[in-house]
Amino acid sequence: MQPIRLLARPPLRSVATAAAAATASRPSHLARVIVPALASTTTTTANRPRFGSSCCSPPSAAPPGTIPSNARKMSDDAGNPPKRPTSPAEVSQYLKETHDRLFDNNRAWAAEKAQKDPGYFARLSAGQSPEYLWIGCSDSRIPAEQITGLEPGEAFIHRNIANLVCNTDLNVMSVINYAVRHLGVKHIIVCGHYGCGGVKAAMTPKDLGLLNPWLRNIRDVYRLHEKELDAIPEEEARYNRLVELNVEEQCRNIVKTAAVQQSYAKNQYPVVHGWVFGFHDGLLKDLKIDFQAMLKNVQKIYNLSD
Ligand SMILES: [Zn+2]
Repeated sequence: MQPIRLLARPPLRSVATAAAAATASRPSHLARVIVPALASTTTTTANRPRFGSSCCSPPSAAPPGTIPSNARKMSDDAGNPPKRPTSPAEVSQYLKETHDRLFDNNRAWAAEKAQKDPGYFARLSAGQSPEYLWIGCSDSRIPAEQITGLEPGEAFIHRNIANLVCNTDLNVMSVINYAVRHLGVKHIIVCGHYGCGGVKAAMTPKDLGLLNPWLRNIRDVYRLHEKELDAIPEEEARYNRLVELNVEEQCRNIVKTAAVQQSYAKNQYPVVHGWVFGFHDGLLKDLKIDFQAMLKNVQKIYNLSD
């Protein structure tokens, strides 16, 4: 396998490195409260997209005390930049407000639902019977229900970095098993997205610590399709194709499961689909995976239907 150097610079720093950098650049009282938050957020360093960054991008290297760009409630009505917290009391207030606004939103949502449909929560309480299992990337910009117009109760959701379906991941395997055998979902959708930071990080020649074994699955996808990918000269096009091939490979991993094979033999469902979301236009692309052909091919080796 040729050395894969798809990126000029690594897109991902380790959390420890980023946290240390952030700590060094902030007053100590800010570092104590902001650094832990940075470790789990997804903002970029340079050329920051307006809505933040991809799922595995490095934490922000914003100036000390800067409020994260995704704190949308933290500007005034005139759209002026948010006030920088300059004291422990202001930081505490900021954290309280960013927490409390979720409950404000929730109360407003519940009230609106009840007002429009008085029986809504009684039906929601009765149980779920979703038609869809959605396996997507953890990237904060791809809310499954919002981009597909689904309501609560219509989709069973699993998300992780780079929408992977790993044979040894008890989490995703339990989700698939429950969704197929108990909920009887009709469709399983693997939804990746162009510009996936997880895919880019995986192809970066760098030790990413704890992420290595997880992202190695994407390197394996590259290896399986090395000839096709190496033949694409333009870097972004090569990444885009790797995103698509990763989705296709995860669909194949789903088809390898006993739950899917046995349910399909008995019920003619679920059907597995591979989609890719594009940030530039907000549209989903159906990769039009031939599920039956994939199933037939997989079962030459991985037949668990009996
Ligand atoms: Zn992603």
